Order: sequence, then C-alpha cells, then structure tokens
Amino acid sequence: MQIDPDVYLIGSGRFGFDMTDLYDCNIFLFDAGGSYVIFDIGAGLGVDQILQICARDGLDLDRLDHLFLTHAHADHAGGAAHFRDRIDCALYAPARTAEIVTACDEEAVSLPGARAAGIYPDDYVYRACSVEYVLEAGRVVEIGKIKVETIATPGHSHDHHSYLVTGLDKRYLVAGDAILFGGKVVLQNTYDCSVPQTIASIQHLATYDFDALLPGHLTFSLRRGTRHVEAACAIIDQFGCPPPIG
Ligand SMILES: [Zn+2]
Repeated sequence: MQIDPDVYLIGSGRFGFDMTDLYDCNIFLFDAGGSYVIFDIGAGLGVDQILQICARDGLDLDRLDHLFLTHAHADHAGGAAHFRDRIDCALYAPARTAEIVTACDEEAVSLPGARAAGIYPDDYVYRACSVEYVLEAGRVVEIGKIKVETIATPGHSHDHHSYLVTGLDKRYLVAGDAILFGGKVVLQNTYDCSVPQTIASIQHLATYDFDALLPGHLTFSLRRGTRHVEAACAIIDQFGCPPPIG
C-alpha cells in the first residue's frame, strides 16, 4: 500500500492493519531510486503475502535489495531468514541485533517464554540469518537518493534502534517499537525491557526533526509526526509513563 510518493507499507499484522500474517510488525519500504530499502520484515510466516502486496503495488521484486532491522524481536526480525529464502537482499542491523539474529539466540529475544505464554505458536522457530552490514549509532548509510541514520533507542529492548530517513521531500522516523502513534510505548515483562531507557530514548528522539512517524505497530503519521514524541514528553515531564500499546 503506497502511503507517500516513495514510501509503501508492505506488511502489517494484528497490532496494525492486518494486511499480512498476524505476527507481523508494520513493514515499510522506501523507493531509493535504483533499489528499495525495507525496514523490518515481520515474523516470517507472511512472506508470500508480503511479496504479493509488493507485486500488486507495482514494485519490482528484483529491486528488494536492502533490509534494515530495528531490533531482533521475532515479529520484526524473525522473518529475515524466511525472506532471504526468496529474495537476495543485504541485511543491515546494529551490533547486538546482528549478534542475536546471526546466532539465532531465542533466549535473547525471550522467545521460549513468549511461546510458553501462547504469544507465538508452539511450532514457531527463530531462524539464523547472516547480517552483511553492522551499524552503530550515528552512522549514516546512503542508498540511492535516501540517507538512513541509525539512532540508538534502547528501552523496549536492549538492542533497539530507530532510523531517520532523509533525502525525500519529507523526513521520516522509522521508530520501530521506541514510540508509537499517540506517544504510546511497548513495555513488556522481559529481562531487557527498561522504563528509564524507554523514557531516555523518547527524550533523545525529541531532539530530532522529522515529518512522518512510521512506527512498528498501530497506525502511522505522515505529517506532524513529532507531536507523538511531544505527547509522550509532556507525560514524562509530569513524572508519568507514556501510555502502553494496550
Ligand atoms: Zn519488539
């Protein structure tokens, strides 16, 4: 689904638009000119649907060349290996995310507990996937006409990063699970989820200027995206915690 002149939503699950498999996060694609840049890829059970959506939107499947991950959780990164079974693309991830995905470290993404809790099916497995480009905070990667800046946003998980995409008419914050529409946050009872880090990351994002907020779940905002960060900061300033996803 095209959402802006060079931006598409090509997948989304039950905490979004129910376009693809229910476990999928929002999956965004940017047309960088000669090639496409994808951010997060879902859990891996909806790859056929994702590719069908790309084809239906008139996208050239031979140009799906670059895939960035915000963090290693299964609903964002679990699909990387499945996607690469079908598409020859380079994978970009920050160091800790890259370690987890490369080692297929299910404990690191709390998957055994999530399966036991019924959040993922019993037979869902995380598959290892090699990472070609390991990113660090502040790094800017230029691909075609876009630039992708890596921003450290730990809190939702210890490895979490967001990306600022520039070079188009607007500036886009691909936020992953750092902050959602309405200033909501995704706090979980996992070993690496931290409220203070979540809040510090939101305050850090408040120092960035962008137009569109493209989060990993719920809806997105194509203009005035910073208002969602401001809404969270207003609560934080009153010693509160931003509202949870639900
Ligand atoms: Zn997550």
